[in-house]
Amino acid sequence: MEPLQALIQLSAAAAIAPAITQGGGGNTSFKNGNQMLIKASGFRLDEVSETSGFVAVNFQPVIECLSKNSSEFTNPDAELKKLVNEAIIGDKTFLPSMETGFHAVLNKCVIHTHAIVANLLLCTDEGENILKTIFKAEAIIVLPFLNPGYYLSKAIADLSNVPQIIFLKNHGLIVHGETVEGTIALQNKVIQTLNKALNFKGDLNFKLLEKANNVFELESEWLNIYYTQPGLLSKTYFPDQAVVIGNQYQLSQSNLLISKINFNRLIGNCMINAPKKSAMAIAENLCALAHIAIYNQSKKTILTAVPDADVAYILGMDMEQYRQGLLNLKV
Ligand SMILES: [Zn+2]
Repeated sequence: MEPLQALIQLSAAAAIAPAITQGGGGNTSFKNGNQMLIKASGFRLDEVSETSGFVAVNFQPVIECLSKNSSEFTNPDAELKKLVNEAIIGDKTFLPSMETGFHAVLNKCVIHTHAIVANLLLCTDEGENILKTIFKAEAIIVLPFLNPGYYLSKAIADLSNVPQIIFLKNHGLIVHGETVEGTIALQNKVIQTLNKALNFKGDLNFKLLEKANNVFELESEWLNIYYTQPGLLSKTYFPDQAVVIGNQYQLSQSNLLISKINFNRLIGNCMINAPKKSAMAIAENLCALAHIAIYNQSKKTILTAVPDADVAYILGMDMEQYRQGLLNLKV
């Protein structure tokens, strides 16, 4: 199979539903010789095509960088990012995914998603043991929360034995393998197993209605949680929540569009003031968080938030700002 066709197939499998990947989140890669094709930062997985949405990188220097001790770097994140950008082959208009590091050290085919069904468990302390019970017949690992970029990549590079199924607390899922078909089948199997075990339907049921230029009304039953539990957004449960939603929201009792995301608690309505692609990313991430909260409240399990210091770190990262900027610009 042609490398680009392989990447397109892996990306399409990951982009199959917003329950698996939201907004520009998630990424895929395919290695061929010294080259790795990887989803470009700021693109949605369903935008990976014959002509755009991907970047080619020479991935050996990335592996070498991650094999060094962290103490050899003054600013590991910045140095890895610089090295990754220098490793781009050909056109440098777009940057590779900020998660290029861990893609480089894994098998030939990699699919990384922010599957909601996995995050139902990964945003709680109890989740790790539940996952180990559900997947008792499989080799899996559940990594603690680590900031995307160097630190997550380094933790994966340092694993002595890397299972094909990797869960990331407060973040998502990675599956990897030697063939496109095998990796897609593994991704589907993990999602189906989790859907069945947690009785998760994966039907997100929301409407994003265009009301005016760059003004969208979000309609769904799950939105109720934001009107009744306004504190939910004050903590961050996964990196894309910080990047896509962050504090760009307003809970009020009026219809004024004060912020990017405007919840009118009085009449129960949510207006998003953003270009369409950005509005969709917001809607999908609000949906992910609502499902995580609703599920865990029904199980009486407490959500574990990403520590504030890590949230600040994520928001201070150049690559995430770059990605957020692209989501706002590319409409
Ligand atoms: Zn991710």
